[in-house]
Amino acid sequence: MSAPVQSDRPAITIGLAAHHQFCPRRAWLEVAGERTDTHQMAVGTAQHVNTDDPSSARPGQLRAVDVTHSTWGYSGRCDTIEDLGDGTLRVLEYKATPVRRRAEVTEAMRMQVALQVAALEDAGQVVRDQFVYFTEHRQRVPVTLTAKDFEAAHALVDATRQAVESPFAPSALEDDPRCERCSHASVCLPDERALAPVRRRIVVADPDTQVVHLATPGSRASVRAGRLIVRKGDDELTSVPLERVQGVVVHGNADLSGGLIRELLWRQLSIVWCTGRGRVTGWASSTDSPNGTARARQHATTPEAGLNLAREFIAAKITNQATLLRRNGDAAASLARLRQLSRTAATALSTDEVLGIEGEAAALYFDGFQTMLRPAGVQFDGRTRRPARDPVNAALNYSYALLLGDCIRALRSCGLDPHIGFLHSSSRNKPALALDLLEEFRAPVADSTVIRAFNNGELTLDDFRAPLGTSALTERGRKALITSYERRVLGEMTHPTFGYKVTWRRAMEIQARLILGVLDGSQPSYIGIRTR
Ligand code: SF4
Repeated sequence: MSAPVQSDRPAITIGLAAHHQFCPRRAWLEVAGERTDTHQMAVGTAQHVNTDDPSSARPGQLRAVDVTHSTWGYSGRCDTIEDLGDGTLRVLEYKATPVRRRAEVTEAMRMQVALQVAALEDAGQVVRDQFVYFTEHRQRVPVTLTAKDFEAAHALVDATRQAVESPFAPSALEDDPRCERCSHASVCLPDERALAPVRRRIVVADPDTQVVHLATPGSRASVRAGRLIVRKGDDELTSVPLERVQGVVVHGNADLSGGLIRELLWRQLSIVWCTGRGRVTGWASSTDSPNGTARARQHATTPEAGLNLAREFIAAKITNQATLLRRNGDAAASLARLRQLSRTAATALSTDEVLGIEGEAAALYFDGFQTMLRPAGVQFDGRTRRPARDPVNAALNYSYALLLGDCIRALRSCGLDPHIGFLHSSSRNKPALALDLLEEFRAPVADSTVIRAFNNGELTLDDFRAPLGTSALTERGRKALITSYERRVLGEMTHPTFGYKVTWRRAMEIQARLILGVLDGSQPSYIGIRTR
């Protein structure tokens, strides 16, 4: 099967064929817009700096030459082409290889070079020979190509096209060593797709990044020399290298410069704005967004098809409420019923039934909420959303807003639309899917943050104002709650389904990617996080 490249079809490149040869799912993820930035890629980029610069060529050399095969339908780039002076060419492909590994031409390199040579010959050039240059070894190794190699390269292009044009993701490899060195493991989640304990956890690079909160009224963040700088008046409040920024949350009357907004979006980092009382007012994210096909499917999913997701969000939420109450307060009156409601939610026949069960569970849970609060005078007389009538409700509202910001970021990072939900109705014009995802994290992250902050004295009644019979956090209280929340989301827990340790913030992205897995067809169902 050969096909010319068409604008409405994924462009087949030599790099994409290399991904496919490594693993068809990896090529599909690339076309779906998933990008990763691993150490290997960083090293590869550094090694290619010269070869990617056409102006750095020596006499008789051409660098970074774009090539196209019009019949087989792919394009690519040659690192270096040498003109041998007799009308023939030499192809040189640069490779960075860890020093302890041998300078050996692999099958993948052979295919890459074969595709470069085939494209040059398709353009009427004569290629005399071809080499791989191993930069760490400073060694040129010849590549001998036979007719069979060219047949295999052609078949690889066709197979790549067939795989990436499929609307459904290829299955992840099972227990395969390739996954351990795959640049896409953190977005692919190969072992998690089976929704069973992970036998051999793939350790993905720790991004060592942080969410920056701008919580000082009147402060302004800008970008300077690759750093995010926050200033108020003449004082510099904080300075963070942009590489370490995972996202920004702007609280109340703080500001961002246009340059910083542009830089964050260029880096595909999300910005969330919320009011000083903890209401998310909006977010900004890059125009580049992966998994467009799955997002379209998200929009087209019927309530019946999304019922598994809706059930799991609430079944897990209720289990987690029961666990928090049992661990921190008096659950004697409600534990059995909450557990029963969780089981009933998991098999409910409609989203209306799920919502009814959720309502009964919430009433039971908040009836016992006071028993989890130890300091004298910290009074909780039932859940009042907006306006908050007491400090506990004000802190809960704020904590839910922080959690909502994290859920929005998790969903956006895998390309899902925060507004199209499976439990919460999109007709309410709220970020329904973000509110769906938030449910299972409410008790263990947001409620737990508030309870700990009051019980360990980080928050006291002095940290609240009481305008017109309502309650709101002071600036100090808001900062204390944000600090407590960050400690919680960066804390590790053992994932109840997969059995490995993970931070709560990373767990949100994993759960978002499990929703994505249901939509892109690479896993059968969704399992919410249930704490024990
Ligand atoms: S992690 Fe494994 S299954 Fe996923 S893309 Fe990489 S090699 Fe393929």
